[in-house]
Amino acid sequence: MTPADALKMVRDGGRLSRDMAEAVYVHAATEDLEATAKAVRARHATPGVATYLVDRNVNYTNVCITDCTFCEFYRRPGDKEAYVLPKDAMRTKLSELRAAGGTRVLLQGGHNPDLRIAWYEELLRFLTDEFPDIRPDAFSPPEIEHLARLEGLSTRDVLVRLRDAGLKGLPGGGGEMLDDEIRRRVSPKKTMSAEWLRIMGEAHELGLSTTVTMVFGFGEEVRHRCNAFAAIRDRQDLSIARFGRGFVGFASWPLQHESRYGELWGLKKGVKLGAEPDEYLRHAAFARVWLDNVPHMQASWPTMGVDVAARALLASCDDMGGTMMEENVVSQAGSVHASASETALRDAIIGAGFTPRKRDTEYALI
Ligand code: SF4
Repeated sequence: MTPADALKMVRDGGRLSRDMAEAVYVHAATEDLEATAKAVRARHATPGVATYLVDRNVNYTNVCITDCTFCEFYRRPGDKEAYVLPKDAMRTKLSELRAAGGTRVLLQGGHNPDLRIAWYEELLRFLTDEFPDIRPDAFSPPEIEHLARLEGLSTRDVLVRLRDAGLKGLPGGGGEMLDDEIRRRVSPKKTMSAEWLRIMGEAHELGLSTTVTMVFGFGEEVRHRCNAFAAIRDRQDLSIARFGRGFVGFASWPLQHESRYGELWGLKKGVKLGAEPDEYLRHAAFARVWLDNVPHMQASWPTMGVDVAARALLASCDDMGGTMMEENVVSQAGSVHASASETALRDAIIGAGFTPRKRDTEYALI
């Protein structure tokens, strides 16, 4: 079967198989790939509409012991720039979010060995009591695994305790490339693929809302990207079959360019890191075609800029993601797009020919 035949099969309601994935990823004509992505998009999202979320990122601590090689954000315990956000700072940030009409706070931080599970529970109770109108989505699978190790609990028990304290959803952070060959190279101390996906399965079982993310451009091969895509689709199939729910959305973005990474990872000279807009757009279109069981796809304006993100809406994506208000992890790795106003996201959506609609975390229109 040629890539063109495989894409036609998808447009006719079929599904790409793993043995066709790499050929389609590399050799399909871009127009064909994007037309197929558009057809799959139409099965999940309202035609002519693109959504966005008013939210805020809060990085509650930058202390981390996991030492991911690509991370410019974290500080080791005891570093003079290490911080844990005090409650008053959280209150100010959440009040600003409320004033901006926000509905979701995304809490993510480093793996801080001094913060025990009681600290997280208290934080969630404080946010739920003082800001019942703002939903906390927080602590990606690596943070859950870190807490489980620290407390000697299972990851499921950690999730149950956090859910009972007010946690509503688990963002897809720390997914990066879900292929252990790559994870061992770039973040060897971080949660490996099977664990990351297993924790997300537990979150699905417990009724938490989740998203899945992919960072690409670590100098990996196409087979690694396709392995990651396959693992995500399998997890989604399983969760939907067992629990009737899975990831609500997918987002991908390229690694932000840092030449030192190539040396660090022992890559040959000249291996390209990150990705240019055209590669990103093809990757996003392939994601839509492959992940036929994930309803929503976010365009990544924080790494690609609002204009490229708007182009992604034309084929693959149906959502511009959140306003974020602040972003400290991607921006410290070199991205210049640390936040966007609601007006900027709406204008970009209108510019791409769609009607902008504000949504909540579960993609319900507000
Ligand atoms: S990416 Fe996350 S887990 Fe890795 S070093 Fe940075 S803060 Fe720690």
